[in-house]
Amino acid sequence: MNRLVVMKFGGTSVEDAAAILRTAKIVAGRVANGLQPVVVVSAMARVTDLLISAAATAARGDRASAMAITERLRIRHCDTAMQLAMGAQLREDPLAATRADSGLAATHAWMGKEFDGLEEILRGLAVVGELTPRISDMIVSYGERVSSRMMTEAFVRSGINAVYVDARQCIVTDAQYGKAIPQDAAIEQKLKEHVVPHLAEGRVPVLGGFIGSTEQGVTTTLGRGGSDFTAALVGGGIDAAAIEIWTDVNGIMTADPRMVPDALRVKTISFEEAAELAYFGAKVLHPATILPAVKKNIPVFVLNSKNPENSGTRITALAAHCKSPFKSIAVKKRLTIMDVVASRMLMSHGYLREIFEVFDKHKCPVDMVSTSEVSVSISLDSNEKLPAIAADLSKLADVKYEGRKALVCMVGENIRGQNGIAARVFQAVRHVNLRMISQGASEINMSFMVEEDDAEEAVRSLHAEFFSDPDPAIFDVEAIRQPAVR
Ligand code: ADP
Ligand code: ASP
Ligand code: MG
Repeated sequence: MNRLVVMKFGGTSVEDAAAILRTAKIVAGRVANGLQPVVVVSAMARVTDLLISAAATAARGDRASAMAITERLRIRHCDTAMQLAMGAQLREDPLAATRADSGLAATHAWMGKEFDGLEEILRGLAVVGELTPRISDMIVSYGERVSSRMMTEAFVRSGINAVYVDARQCIVTDAQYGKAIPQDAAIEQKLKEHVVPHLAEGRVPVLGGFIGSTEQGVTTTLGRGGSDFTAALVGGGIDAAAIEIWTDVNGIMTADPRMVPDALRVKTISFEEAAELAYFGAKVLHPATILPAVKKNIPVFVLNSKNPENSGTRITALAAHCKSPFKSIAVKKRLTIMDVVASRMLMSHGYLREIFEVFDKHKCPVDMVSTSEVSVSISLDSNEKLPAIAADLSKLADVKYEGRKALVCMVGENIRGQNGIAARVFQAVRHVNLRMISQGASEINMSFMVEEDDAEEAVRSLHAEFFSDPDPAIFDVEAIRQPAVR
């Protein structure tokens, strides 16, 4: 029987010593149940953001402030390592205490070297003043590099036969720094070399998420939130029986619980629905996570490391029948709408191709498109390429663009072929000014653009309309009666 399970722990599951010990307990529990985990860990909570700001600060030439950030990171990691080592002493095992002492010195030695290396790069950057995507990846990779090694040591102290594996040896990518594309066949091969032999020996390999390297060994990253993607790549590469995404909420909810406090856990959801939600902004899963799992039909679970007893969300190949039309509502903020208007478009063919070639040239993905006879409106992530894109498009048409927009997307297999749903949606958000409206070709989402400031109100109104009478087979209605366990 296949007992391989990939367990990915996000930043909040490794944010401090207490969280790391909780995580160790969860992994030890899986081992005790006869499973063979491979663990993928994110950087400690907020560390990636701090590394990004250290890089930007150094690139502005402000070396002292960049060093102040790395100093805080160094102290936080060293303190956490110390607390983890002292945890062993507190268990009043004199031998464990001795081991903790010598182990701690070794930990501080390698951590010191890592942070020295990071500071060296930042000092160089402060002199040169040019932050390339390649250097940026090198800098942000430190978060996962350090957290994964520290976690491995914490696991070993907790009695788990864990072994550190540098993810950059396994996750082979192309050289699109910042959002590198994984090379599946090479990854499978590398996992066979660096991970599978440990499993055969009964060890628990621990890898940092988010980071990879090119064939030439240059460090890359998979994009923000990319540790989920690493988990799915590893799961697909070793043919795991399951992939578990451990986070700080009980699973995929009917909306972001930070926006809608009475959001409900969705017990099961299809790959297609989950992919759509992730793509349209539900931060709980990285959009690319699902594909490697789908290819091998591996179930994915989203679970809460602060509440491990909860059964979370199971993502499966097919959707279970659900009485409600939607499973969840996602929001993607910081979008821009670009309006391209040209009378030349009237009756002409090949025109849309010309427009989209511009986006292709700038490697800029678009979210939503709506067209009329003479105009195309396109929504896309607000980014620094917009002026260059607009300049290229203005050779074809009149172009204007406006930021601070948000996309609200409702997802559910059950909207296929159902009448009257759009009317309910528009009635629920009648007080909000809707911009572009679309129902995707997959027929499982309905989305619209609004002003960013209106997005939360729109989501709350839609949630009240569509989730006030939830189907108990799909949604965790028991939690309404026991709010304390959510
Ligand atoms: P991690 O660090 O574990 O990867 P993330 O912060 O990336 O965690 O994702 C978890 C967060 O995603 C939750 O705290 C929640 O605020 C947010 N979120 C957004 N949409 C949803 C949703 N539909 N269901 C659950 N969580 C959501
Ligand atoms: N640490 C990375 C980030 O914050 C990757 C991840 O957490 O998934 O984006
Ligand atoms: Mg995440």
